[in-house]
Amino acid sequence: MLDSILESLHVVDLPTKTNFRGVTSREVALFQGPAGWGEFSPFLEYSPKESVPWLVSAVEAALISPPTPLRDSIQVNATLPAINGDAEIAEVLSWYPGCTTVKIKVGGNLIQDLDRIGSVRTLAPDIKIRIDVNANWSVDEAFRAIGAISEIGSIEYVEQPCSTLDELRELKRKLPPTVLIAGDEVVRKASHPMELNLAGAVDIVILKVAPLGGIKRSLEIAKKHSLPTVVSSALESAVGISYGLALASATLESQYACGLATGALLRADVAASFIAQGSMKVGVVEPSTQLLASLAVSQERLDWWRGRIRDTWLAGSQQWVEREGWAW
Ligand SMILES: [Mg+2]
Repeated sequence: MLDSILESLHVVDLPTKTNFRGVTSREVALFQGPAGWGEFSPFLEYSPKESVPWLVSAVEAALISPPTPLRDSIQVNATLPAINGDAEIAEVLSWYPGCTTVKIKVGGNLIQDLDRIGSVRTLAPDIKIRIDVNANWSVDEAFRAIGAISEIGSIEYVEQPCSTLDELRELKRKLPPTVLIAGDEVVRKASHPMELNLAGAVDIVILKVAPLGGIKRSLEIAKKHSLPTVVSSALESAVGISYGLALASATLESQYACGLATGALLRADVAASFIAQGSMKVGVVEPSTQLLASLAVSQERLDWWRGRIRDTWLAGSQQWVEREGWAW
């Protein structure tokens, strides 16, 4: 199977419009199987071991048709990186037509965080705000920051304020019950996400299809924890996003918009993806041959990715795929 993956491999470099988690361009690997295109795009610093579920997800996309969608379009949220300034923020918000929810990245300098949230409140008074801390606060910092942020207005939920489940549990005990906590890293970086006890720590589970190892496993994780879920992306190309949309369409309708509109942060992509009236359409995405060529990385980078895929395959993806009984 490794040979089949490498045979149809394309690696592209997608420039971003803005600095997003220190990234100004995004390299992603794409390959085509009998059921469609798969995307393998762990961030560059991820080890082969950490990348194992990402490759399993890509193989699943290439080999297994997604479940029958329960709905054909998915409500999505805007994502605002950690930038400041009314003009800059207004420009980013304009990339998400019709979105009624925005996820704001925070967790750096609190003064700048408050300023960023204040700008959004002024520019879009009716928009629902959720914040994503990426585990950057201690329990005490989180308690103080959430208090200060709540004074500007209500927050839909706080995503991953602290790193560990114990910290999240301690924080929840201190906070009023109206403050909801969403778990992202604590689920997707766990070695056994199915065995976590999220009780008293997390109210909402973020489902990211690639780091969780594909649609089948994400649905199993959602079922196991039986909490509300929000399907989100990891700055993927239109191919990876379409897989997240397929996962979202297989889950029950939720009151929460999904974090799948991050394509708006890319300056170029391998296929068109549209946000209209705050939603995105579920469906098959075929990368354009022309764009695969014009966005292709150098031979040197392609060789690096081939080596990375081989290492990831041997670090555990192969075993996982064999356990599933998937053949190519
Ligand atoms: Mg997050």
